Amino acid sequence: MPNDLNQLETALAAYPRVALLEGPTPIQKLSRLSRLPELHGCNLYVKRDDLMGLGGGGNKLRKLEFLLGEALAEGADTLVTWGGFQSNHARLTAAVAARHGLACELILTPSAVRGDDDFCHNGNVLLDGLFGAKVHRLPLGSTPDSYAAQLLSALGSQGKKPFLIPLGGSSPRGSLGYAACAGEILRQADALGVQFERIIIPNGSAGTHSGLQAGLALARSSTEIIGYSVLATEEQTTATTLEKTRETLQLLDPSATLLESAINVDGSQRGDAYGAPTESMLEAVRLLASVEGLLTDPVYGGKAFAGLLAAVRRGDYPAGSNLLFVMTGGLPGLFAYRSAFN
Ligand SMILES: *Cc1c(COP(=O)(O)O)cnc(C)c1O
Repeated sequence: MPNDLNQLETALAAYPRVALLEGPTPIQKLSRLSRLPELHGCNLYVKRDDLMGLGGGGNKLRKLEFLLGEALAEGADTLVTWGGFQSNHARLTAAVAARHGLACELILTPSAVRGDDDFCHNGNVLLDGLFGAKVHRLPLGSTPDSYAAQLLSALGSQGKKPFLIPLGGSSPRGSLGYAACAGEILRQADALGVQFERIIIPNGSAGTHSGLQAGLALARSSTEIIGYSVLATEEQTTATTLEKTRETLQLLDPSATLLESAINVDGSQRGDAYGAPTESMLEAVRLLASVEGLLTDPVYGGKAFAGLLAAVRRGDYPAGSNLLFVMTGGLPGLFAYRSAFN
């Protein structure tokens, strides 16, 4: 092993974890896309974190492995979380609760920029109901955290033991799922004989970015990460990601330090708002689908892949660069955005 993976894997083993994946997700080369002249000889690869069996899969399952471990260790019987109507995290929390015989209460907030029937009732929110979750739909402008506090005390007084999972599952414990993924990627890269210069990801609640960054730091890898922020501004996301990476690293090695310059966030792809479609997102989703037969979502993966395409087309990466895009799932979101693709 070229990287120091033992320390990372030993540190991760100290935290309770429930397996929710079938095993490592594949890394595949985008052979047809990489041959397009406009991509200047870069080798594009994808880490298929959309390929997981439970609940439709996606990046939140890696965080939920550690969050469910924490919840069960505390004797919880009900998972509570919040997100938007089209939250993939809420949908996967509901699926995990169903699989493990726990109750699930979801607090969902509407979008200021999308209000059509598909957005409000199809995609993820349709699946939440199938998984048996109790859905609390809040009106526009209400605060999910104060609603969650009330719900927790109400559940407690009914004799239940609720466990609150924060937005996107991005607590330091949740982020450990992506620290583990960093180790998985380094092992796979070694087996493939490929050195990745960059890992490209969407950044929403920053847990995916923080976990990967913490894992790579602990393994002393030279691979860099770039996160395309889709929720907050570049500046806010950089600050949040730095703080969360340090907190995650703290769980793994209290003596580890991290420079602010290690965090690389690009805010150019967000568009007008979280969840607001952009022209470059639509083009990126269509290109990946039509050239490789692969599906990305309109809120996260589509925007991050658009950022990767823009950087490669501009010539930011020399020919022969090996670039790994993490496919984070979110397929149900496409059905909520039918009108955007018309
Ligand atoms: C939540 C989510 C992300 C972003 O992950 P964070 O850890 O919240 O930054 C990316 N892609 C999809 C499909 C998601 O559901």
